[in-house]
Amino acid sequence: MYLLLGSERALLLDTGTGHATLRPVVESLLDGQRLIVAHTHSHGDHVGGDGEFDEVVGKSAEDVATYFGIADWPNDVVQLDLGGRVLDIIPIPGHHASHIAVYDRTSKVLFSGDSLYPGRLYVFDWTAFRASMTRLAEFVAAGNPVEWILGAHIELTREPGRDFEMGADKHPDEHELELDAGVLSELAEVLEEAGPDPSRIESDHFIVYPVPAG
Ligand SMILES: [Zn+2]
Ligand SMILES: [Zn+2]
Repeated sequence: MYLLLGSERALLLDTGTGHATLRPVVESLLDGQRLIVAHTHSHGDHVGGDGEFDEVVGKSAEDVATYFGIADWPNDVVQLDLGGRVLDIIPIPGHHASHIAVYDRTSKVLFSGDSLYPGRLYVFDWTAFRASMTRLAEFVAAGNPVEWILGAHIELTREPGRDFEMGADKHPDEHELELDAGVLSELAEVLEEAGPDPSRIESDHFIVYPVPAG
């Protein structure tokens, strides 16, 4: 979960699994800003705390497009000004139909949710995911430099390409969370090379992990 503070508005990106009380912590960090609660995407581990908040951006791609004013989903990139801090909202379906990435022009951090992190990148819609990662890499190349990419999970160890078992309750010597922009370029390239048929791809910093339909 990430809380981005502007002078007038604040964006809470994801509400987690719902196993911990979130709202008092968030409110203690606000200084009069109006809170917007949105998600990178609406899998259960990202929306679990929604019930604590009065108003939350909806869970479908249509809801997300409507809230942020994205006319041509998933091709348009739109801006959200928090007050002295402009975010770019970038639709990137593939892991989930409603998935967005958020680029913070101030910190040059790209929030990538479950679409890129040091772990298994579960791809539910291969065609959409390939197109999304190409568009995201193009967005960065087109004058939006990225200092760090911050995703939502860590499933890799420090040993290149080696992951923890699914459901492991301990992660000794896990990979650091932050990834540099080169990892996004690499992901877009290997997806391009892989072609139209889903395939598992292992890299030092991620594992592309297609999930069969149904
Ligand atoms: Zn997810
Ligand atoms: Zn997740």
